[in-house]
Amino acid sequence: MTEAPATNVTLDEIVALCKRRGFVFPASEIYGGIASTYDYGHYGVLLKRNVKDEWWRAMLDGPDRIVALDSAIIQNPRVWEASGHLAGFSDPLVDCRTCKLRFRADKLEDSACGRKPSKHPGETEECDLTEPRQFHLMFKTHMGPVEDDAAVVYLRPETAQGIFVNFKNVLQFARVKPPFGIAQVGKSFRNEIVTGNFIFRTREFEQMEMEFFVPPAEAEKWYERWIERRREWYEELGIRPDYLRARPHEADELSHYSSATSDVEYRFPIGWQELEGIANRGDFDLTQHANHSGEKLEYFDQATGEAGEAYVPHVIEPAAGVDRALLAFLVDAYDTDEVEGRRRTVLRLHPRLAPVKVAVLPLVSREGMPEKARAVYDSLRQRVGAEYDEGGSIGRRYRRQDEIGTPWGVTVDGQTLADDTVTLRDRDSLEQVRVPIVGLADELAARLELPWRSPKLA
Ligand code: ATP
Repeated sequence: MTEAPATNVTLDEIVALCKRRGFVFPASEIYGGIASTYDYGHYGVLLKRNVKDEWWRAMLDGPDRIVALDSAIIQNPRVWEASGHLAGFSDPLVDCRTCKLRFRADKLEDSACGRKPSKHPGETEECDLTEPRQFHLMFKTHMGPVEDDAAVVYLRPETAQGIFVNFKNVLQFARVKPPFGIAQVGKSFRNEIVTGNFIFRTREFEQMEMEFFVPPAEAEKWYERWIERRREWYEELGIRPDYLRARPHEADELSHYSSATSDVEYRFPIGWQELEGIANRGDFDLTQHANHSGEKLEYFDQATGEAGEAYVPHVIEPAAGVDRALLAFLVDAYDTDEVEGRRRTVLRLHPRLAPVKVAVLPLVSREGMPEKARAVYDSLRQRVGAEYDEGGSIGRRYRRQDEIGTPWGVTVDGQTLADDTVTLRDRDSLEQVRVPIVGLADELAARLELPWRSPKLA
């Protein structure tokens, strides 16, 4: 099978667009920034919210029983003892005595030698690497004003454990029985040794995780099903299929608790990289927390009465990163073309992901057009995310909307004042059609629900 050509956009182009249009920019910038930490501006927030909304929609409105949870970032430290994070949550690292740089021992092939960046660490004669050593990845802080050991707590390195420790609560309150899932979206923190590639790997990031509890005999079936579903989710949201793959882990990549894991990977400008991991975690987590807390974390099927047996459900976990998914959507959407002899940059985002759905633009800012356009904007904004813009030439305003990925543009012109019609412009085909203002909100809301395919595939 021949692979699709590598994506022709560079990460630098994405970083520049994000900065230029206020999607994402370095945190604490006026103080010189802080390593690999980013803030999201207006369009970044809207895009990120849409990614999360789509995830919630897939989880809560899908065919299975899945309930929502929002657990605390700081938990009792014993949670991390039970989960194994306190003991084992570390990546082996090597230092180079020559260039003084530090690398993840399992990622040497993705790293550049400090002296000769065209080579990997350990490949030149000068490289002098130490043996791999373990480092803690959890951020440590103190609860309460006195910094003594009793009050040491950690920022969660994943959202999943908050789900496991609430297993009993959810069973009780949500009246669920396996197979069922608990889903959570929230910030996680890892003191990663090697960060970089923009928002691909940072120390503070957001995760979308779902733990699906199943009868042990059904684990394999659900594992396969969730790999497929999660791959489809990215595809339905417009990622080109050739740039997406599910890759099963080799035996030596598996975590100690996992009998099988597959990654959904995207072909980033930096190569194939993980977007999401789907793991068959067995009964490891519930058993660990039961042993450490003394609480029974099992399911007893009352329908089978006396004959029924309590059992510890097995867990299938799709664990995704919000920021990483957002980066993949941006990379996959980024395109350039020529319109009327001028180069334009356009984000061909799925309309449901686009930060703004429709821009309302008066052709010129006089002759009553701005007032009319504002009225159109007001009639649309309750139904679909809309933006009003009257500053500058119409061409420049379109280019700005193209760069933030707005799928539709509505222009109010002289004819609008006479017959209450507007032109509706399509971001991708550039087709402009004349449509009545009446019914426009319904039309756009309906378009948002249609299946969508990246025009880059045409
Ligand atoms: P990696 O191998 O890239 O370090 P991981 O296998 O440790 O990732 P998981 O623990 O499975 O990651 O976390 C689930 C998801 O959370 C990842 O697929 C990724 O999308 C996201 N994620 C994990 N670490 C980071 C990070 N440092 N920055 C941004 N996203 C992250």
